[in-house]
Amino acid sequence: MKTTKINKQIYLLEEDEYKEHCNCYLIIGSDKCLLIDVGIGFLNKKKILDLCNGKPLMKIVTHFHFDHYGGYHDFGKIFANKSNIEKNKDVGLKYLCKTDFKNDSFEKIKDNSFQIEASCFKQIGECINLGDVKLKVILTPGHDKTSISLFEPKEKILFSGDLIYDGKLYFDFLDSDIKEFIASIKKVLDLKPKMILGGHNKPIILTKDVYLCKQDL
Ligand SMILES: [Zn+2]
Repeated sequence: MKTTKINKQIYLLEEDEYKEHCNCYLIIGSDKCLLIDVGIGFLNKKKILDLCNGKPLMKIVTHFHFDHYGGYHDFGKIFANKSNIEKNKDVGLKYLCKTDFKNDSFEKIKDNSFQIEASCFKQIGECINLGDVKLKVILTPGHDKTSISLFEPKEKILFSGDLIYDGKLYFDFLDSDIKEFIASIKKVLDLKPKMILGGHNKPIILTKDVYLCKQDL
């Protein structure tokens, strides 16, 4: 697991074993910590708990695509938006390609995609309180039906999952909806984030010019 410090409280966690790995984020609050997305199954739980230094660890997944939640069996109870999970059933392991994995990592992927339903629950519009860091959960469907984003209002940081990241965005899966996708992008840009930490690739630092372009959406 590659660990990169984004700022004094946020770590980016990446799974080297999978070429298309998602970005997972660990936020260290004064009272609690939060893991945003649990990867495909290669996160180093011990190292994550060491970074938490004894504080309770909460977990949330941005959406039900396998590269973001496949590692859930290592982490117990996870917050997620399961309101539309039945519409996501066609998206999962079939999108994975063995050649995208290092060595024999592909064989270690566990296919129990939908058991997570039993251990998660909806938490939309509420705040996740980590003490000195508070995050609002925002419903942002479009990439898929279950997508959520998280917004930290003090530093204006948006954790956007696969709604926005620095790269080709996808809104043509079986569970995607282009109208919802555009509405969700407008919704999160209205928050005027200064930094977007997406589900893949590098962080995005936003300038005023971005908001001027919003009318073109
Ligand atoms: Zn996705």
